[in-house]
Amino acid sequence: MPHPDGVDAAANCPQYRAAMVHVAIAPHPVVRTMQRSIYMCAPCNRTRAYMLQTPVLTGNPADPQPQHGHA
Ligand SMILES: [Zn+2]
Repeated sequence: MPHPDGVDAAANCPQYRAAMVHVAIAPHPVVRTMQRSIYMCAPCNRTRAYMLQTPVLTGNPADPQPQHGHA
């Protein structure tokens, strides 16, 4: 019997309990460490956005380095 265990990378429609299609990833407008994953449900023809933690990238370009000024 099919069992939807281990499908943590997908989202399920709360109405139909069907797997929603991941359509886009957009950066969070405020929180830099978050991103919005947008899923679409075909039966409902609606989209839902989920806030997820952005995976840690190699390097830290967004991390401000302390200035050791010699002015
Ligand atoms: Zn749905």
